[in-house]
Amino acid sequence: MTPMKSRFPIVMLAAAMLLTWNTRAQVRFDADFEGGSLGTVELLDSTRFVITPGDTVTHLSYLITGKHDPDNPIDTSLAASANWYYFRMTGVKDKQIFLTQRDNGVARTSYSYDGRTWDHLPLAESTGRHIRKRFEHDTVYIALYTPYTWSYHLRRMNTWSARPDVTLDTIGYSHEGRPMQLMHITDPSVPENQKIRIWIHGRQHPSETPGSYLLDGLIDYLTADTPEGRSLRQQIDAYILPIANPDGVANGLSRSNALGVNQEINFGRSDDSTVVEVRVMKRAFERLTKDRPFDLVLNSHSQLAESATFWMHRRTSTSPVYFRKLWTYTGLVCSQNPCIRPEDMNFSDVAPRYAEGWFWDHAGDNTVALTIETTYNCYSFDRDGLWADNENIRQFGERTMQAIAEYFGLSLPGRYVIETPEQMKNGWQIINDDAHSYLGTEAWRATKKGARINYRMDNLPAGRYEVYQFVPGHCIEPEHSYNLKDPETGKWTDPGVHGWVYLETVEQPSDGRFRYSYKAKVAGDTADALLLILCPPSKQ
Ligand SMILES: [Zn+2]
Repeated sequence: MTPMKSRFPIVMLAAAMLLTWNTRAQVRFDADFEGGSLGTVELLDSTRFVITPGDTVTHLSYLITGKHDPDNPIDTSLAASANWYYFRMTGVKDKQIFLTQRDNGVARTSYSYDGRTWDHLPLAESTGRHIRKRFEHDTVYIALYTPYTWSYHLRRMNTWSARPDVTLDTIGYSHEGRPMQLMHITDPSVPENQKIRIWIHGRQHPSETPGSYLLDGLIDYLTADTPEGRSLRQQIDAYILPIANPDGVANGLSRSNALGVNQEINFGRSDDSTVVEVRVMKRAFERLTKDRPFDLVLNSHSQLAESATFWMHRRTSTSPVYFRKLWTYTGLVCSQNPCIRPEDMNFSDVAPRYAEGWFWDHAGDNTVALTIETTYNCYSFDRDGLWADNENIRQFGERTMQAIAEYFGLSLPGRYVIETPEQMKNGWQIINDDAHSYLGTEAWRATKKGARINYRMDNLPAGRYEVYQFVPGHCIEPEHSYNLKDPETGKWTDPGVHGWVYLETVEQPSDGRFRYSYKAKVAGDTADALLLILCPPSKQ
């Protein structure tokens, strides 16, 4: 390409000519739609190149700043965030656009030509804070990730609340008067005391839209009119608050509510020094745990790091039992899931300012409480591997729900959990210390090669089954960092396997008793629960 006019000759020419040039070349930016967010736009450069006579292309370069959340009135030392962006450009067709985003950016940012169908830009066109792209249509939307707006949320709630076993309870109103709607999902014909009780909330931070797609997949799976969905609702009593910060979501904010307060870190404050949304959630926690604690709590977020993660509360800030439970549950989520591995875990001290801290202070290790973070980027730090999209995040949500059932030893149609026998023959030692992430009440370690363990289940439907065995991993935590990477050497600690490992596929010829014999491969081999997964009809 031959530059017809470089930037500098233009500057030196008459100002009138420059204005004419820019008016013709400029692109219009706006965020004047629901959930839109844009700070300032500054044209840095405008150049026209001649490729062949009669074929020219305009290069336009802009500096974009984010829109800041309101200043935090409770803690004025906190800087306002500006990491959510969702804006529209018009007049871009056949122009080479360069965007530099000062306040935030992710590799392979999301874009859409119609505001409905979204995709990632290729890595070559979106490397982080820089986007370079020749767009094919005149209008394009750019966002940190596919938006999940307040009105889309209301439409989803309409769909879900029409399904069986779903009721909505408005537990309070946001600062601007939007309803905070808690879903109660359970089969009311089964007594409450026979069910596992869980609480899940999301979108404390409005910019973290992948976290909403995770909950969307989870809720869809739990409320579906399928044998698995019905079975889950008979065994689980689920309370889900999909949007904990309605005003932030509706107004396209980044990390705060309408007043500028980061709700996520306000659970330890007194009622008169925090915001209404946090008060509403704490009242719901108190009301719903008056007679019995929740068994498991999830707080759904998204992180800019190029992996998904769970925040594990360090053993030293909680208890060995609690820490072991976190490893067991997260090991299950990592199993049969391309989106997360045990080495992706993060570690922090539990603290009263977080919702998880509230549960630790009120229920100790009776409630397994965790923050799950999806990503806007690739999974497991692998840019050549799988990237987050709405479909795999929704499946991640489904897996998160299945893992809850498995953690509590619940069988679903087509997915059966079989615990180890309580009495073992010679050749096995019990594992029930808190150094291992065993499932249920214990696992076993073989003292010799060939030691046999016999699993049994009274009533297994006929079919072909994939057999998985749970491997109890070591409940490790890093000493000096928030993840398993040593800050001095830069080396990662491999936490090994925590979770289901495939053994073989077996045939159950008819409905009824099932027996499975496992022989230790070596001394030191472990035996924990089995998971049988019915093969799809095509593989029967
Ligand atoms: Zn967050």
